[in-house]
Amino acid sequence: MAEMQNIQWFPGHMTKTKRKIAESIKLIDIVAEIVDARIPQSSRNLDIEDIISKKPRLIILNKCDMADPRKTAIWKEYYKKNGIEAIDVDSKTGKGVNLFIKAIRGVLSDRIEDAKAKGINKSIRVMVVGIPNVGKSSFINKISKGKRARVEDRPGVTRGNQWFFIDKNFEILDTPGVLWPKFEDPLVGEKLAFTGAIKDQVIDIQQLAIRLLELLSIDYKNNLASRYKMTEEEVDGLNGVDLLKAIGKKRGMLISGGDVDTERAAIMILDEFRSAKIGRITLD
Ligand code: GDP
Repeated sequence: MAEMQNIQWFPGHMTKTKRKIAESIKLIDIVAEIVDARIPQSSRNLDIEDIISKKPRLIILNKCDMADPRKTAIWKEYYKKNGIEAIDVDSKTGKGVNLFIKAIRGVLSDRIEDAKAKGINKSIRVMVVGIPNVGKSSFINKISKGKRARVEDRPGVTRGNQWFFIDKNFEILDTPGVLWPKFEDPLVGEKLAFTGAIKDQVIDIQQLAIRLLELLSIDYKNNLASRYKMTEEEVDGLNGVDLLKAIGKKRGMLISGGDVDTERAAIMILDEFRSAKIGRITLD
């Protein structure tokens, strides 16, 4: 997708974001890195390693309600093998969010024990980071619900930043760190666009839907078949363009002359993917 390779994250914005995160990093004990469970690798920004340096971290696989549960389990295992704890949550309903505090305390258990032994009673402070649209605000909202007692501003904190007490000795920064998406790899760019992390205005929507159909027809053939009332053999026999047309036709999306309105069909397919109507799908 040539169009997508041309997108550049505005460098000025990037520097400012990076600086903001770097400032907040000094004030916190642990970073909660939110990723989209449907694309747990493509929705990461590995520059985070430099920014957060050696801070402890927890990965939150958000939107797990829309992701393939089998793959979510594999990803959690993968992160664990690489020394990073991960939890899966659905910030829309709040499912799994209750495991957050315990997971954070688990990652920091040595420090907590250490502080206790020294008689120090110190709060754990957490900052949430992630690329746009992964659900940072939704997560913070859920976690701080009913606990909106704000802690006073602290010196050194960027003005406007506040802390929420969410448990005993446990505070979360109300403003998440916004990372920029990275997509030197065109396939990563596509996946970000499928999930809506890259705005549709800057990409060719039909091309995008065709690519999505191509990918789904490999790993999620039966999802496509059952959603659009086709047989798996039918799905198998069609390339992306013909799948788009066949699906549009099934849905009666025709223009004068009897041709399929592929633009409308493309919008519908992306919409149905994004709302998990095609099923719980993970593309990484
Ligand atoms: P942010 O840009 O990272 O702060 O993302 P938002 O919190 O604004 O969420 C982006 C969109 O994803 C919103 O439409 C949310 O309702 C939706 N969303 C966030 N978390 C979840 C989730 O766990 N499941 C589902 N289904 N939708 C979610």
